[in-house]
Amino acid sequence: MGTIAIYPGTFDPITKGHSDIVARAAGIFDHVILAVAAATAKNTAFSTDERVDLARQVLAEYKNVEVRRFEGLLAHFVRDCGAKAVLRGLRAVSDFEYEFQLAGMNKKLVPEADTVFLPTTENYSYISSSLIREIASLGGNVAEFVHPIVHAALTERLGKRQKA
Ligand code: ADP
Repeated sequence: MGTIAIYPGTFDPITKGHSDIVARAAGIFDHVILAVAAATAKNTAFSTDERVDLARQVLAEYKNVEVRRFEGLLAHFVRDCGAKAVLRGLRAVSDFEYEFQLAGMNKKLVPEADTVFLPTTENYSYISSSLIREIASLGGNVAEFVHPIVHAALTERLGKRQKA
């Protein structure tokens, strides 16, 4: 199957920042698995099935990208998939300390895989799922930062009072 990369995250919901990382990774690796964390300490706006479903719809055009949910430890999922790379996006220097620690720990747990960081494209650096949820819940317009399908889901879930 070639070189497999896992792109793990919460994806609550998937944003244009995430899909930009996927698009670029799909051109580098043979197969990319976007792995949606089911066991998360975060209180998510969307259930795991909803987060998977939105990501699948948004990424449908990429033939070598697959969306799967994973339970438990990422390291086990990475090993079970036979992946060689764990992909993470970096938006700012502030992301670095935590991501560096995570990469070090994952290397200990699955020595056969390495973390690969892709920098965000400049115009997506300020996009985060949490900020988008917050803006949507306060009635702001987030159409520019997410796929139309995600926008509709956000409006339905959080933005009952959404104005222009
Ligand atoms: P997690 O809870 O694991 O941080 P997220 O869904 O928030 O999950 O993010 C998954 C990955 O995508 C992380 O590596 C994060 O840094 C990256 N990411 C999030 N938003 C962007 C963006 N706008 N540009 C590039 N990478 C991003």
